[in-house]
Amino acid sequence: MELENYKNQAERGENYVYVRDKKGYKVRRSRFIWEQHNGKIPEGFMIHHINGIKDDDRIENLMCVSRKEHGQLHRGKFYKYKKT
Ligand SMILES: [Zn+2]
Repeated sequence: MELENYKNQAERGENYVYVRDKKGYKVRRSRFIWEQHNGKIPEGFMIHHINGIKDDDRIENLMCVSRKEHGQLHRGKFYKYKKT
């Protein structure tokens, strides 16, 4: 699993896991991994953790959503997407 490659670089902060990008900036590992698979995250979009576990950065747990959709997700509107 590709995630293993980032494990050593991972730093914990809040509930999220951060890595350093090429320039040395601290970025959320979820965003980093999503971008590895899908390219740049569009402006105003964020990466949601489908199972709600913020350090579970497997690609299948990540979902790119607009800020608005993200708010709805966290209010439970679309929790049908939630995997158990
Ligand atoms: Zn979220």
